[in-house]
Parts: sequence; C-alpha cells; structure tokens
Amino acid sequence: MNTTSLVRRCGVSAAAVVLGLVLSASAADAPKVITPGATFSHGAPPPSDAVVLFDGKELSAWNGPDGKPVGWKIENGYAEVHAGGIATKEEFGDIQLHIEWASPAVVVGKDQGRGNSGIYFQGRYEIQVLDSYENPTYPDGQAGAFYGNSAPLVNASRKPGEWQSYDIVFHAPKAGADGKVVPGSFTVIHNGALVQDHTPVKGDATTAAPAKGVVPKGSLHLQDHGNPVHYRNIWLRKLG
Ligand code: MG
Repeated sequence: MNTTSLVRRCGVSAAAVVLGLVLSASAADAPKVITPGATFSHGAPPPSDAVVLFDGKELSAWNGPDGKPVGWKIENGYAEVHAGGIATKEEFGDIQLHIEWASPAVVVGKDQGRGNSGIYFQGRYEIQVLDSYENPTYPDGQAGAFYGNSAPLVNASRKPGEWQSYDIVFHAPKAGADGKVVPGSFTVIHNGALVQDHTPVKGDATTAAPAKGVVPKGSLHLQDHGNPVHYRNIWLRKLG
C-alpha cells in the first residue's frame, strides 16, 4: 500500500503513526544504552612492554597525511584532531591497544557528523569513534562499532566532552597458504563494557579506509572526519 492510499484508508493521523513506526524501525535495532562506571582504564599507565604512542606531550611516533609532520594541536595532555588523519611510523600486526578519546564538549551536528573520528587498525579496519550519547545513527556506525560490519553489543557512551576509554585486542586477518584469508578478530571494551566479542575481521577494508589488502603489519591510523575530537594516553602491546 502506498502513502496516498494509506492516508485515504486510515486518515492522516493514523497514517502518520504507521509511517512513524516504519521510520523508527532502524532505531529499534539500536544497541541497548547502559551507563558506564565513572572510570575503568582511564589514565591507565602503560605496562613495561608497551609501545607508547602518545604520552600527552608529543606525537613523534606519528606521521601526518602523506608522511608530512602532524598538524594536530597538543595542549593539557591531549591532542586535537586537525588538518588530516595521522598514522604511526611503526607498523603492527596483532596488538592490544589502549586509547582514550573525548567528543567535543560543545555539540555540533548530528548523526555521523557529530564527534566522528576513528581508529584504523593496519590502516584498514575501523573501530568507530563517534559521539553516540543520545545521537541516533545506524548501529554499525556508532561508537564501538567495527564500522560497517558489527554494531556494539551495548551503547556505553559517556557525555560529550567526557573522557572515554577503549581497550582493544586486534588479531589481524592473515593470508593463508591456499590464497584464502584466515580471519582475524576484534575484541573491544568501551568504558569497561564489552562491545565487540571476538568479532571476525575477514580482510575487507572498511569504507574510506586509507589502505586495502591483507598484510602482516600496517600502521595504526587515527581519522580526521572534520570534528575536533580529543585523544590522550595511547599505548599498545605487541602480541605473538
Ligand atoms: Mg569514523
């Protein structure tokens, strides 16, 4: 039944209710919202075997776009996204990553235009960074999503401007001897809540990823999506 015949049969207000139900169908798929604890791994000091990527003072472990210097502003122990994404000089395979981020305290935009950034593992597989506090979007595009692949199990977002933590175990997909890809996985804890539980990473790069193709090692990238997201306390441990 098209909209016109629906209105004829039901009257305008009843049709609006039906259409509203249809339009809210995607919202019904939204992960359950939970309130995370006040802190989890926030401010966690790096273990002795960690590679420290950002200690709040300088970003010498990173390159800016096309290998140029990083143009991000650093102040008060954080770095603010600005003038292009950044990539680690060192390349990594399987890792355990700790990273903290905060959406802009002053809310601008909505949906994917609000506090968007992201972490590309090996420059290929994005764990989304987004202001997902009372900001509906498609579930596999919200904070904690493996972008375009897997919605978070819950929405554990904190308010705009508040520090959030990700603790992520990434196993890279690998090229098998028979030419087939052996899937890797993401396990992600957002503010103390498990949001990706050994989610398969099959080797296809996510939308807008800087690089493609299955590789043994690749750079960790932080995305500039035009929003001044803040990052602090970034370190990782190499696995295997
Ligand atoms: Mg993003």
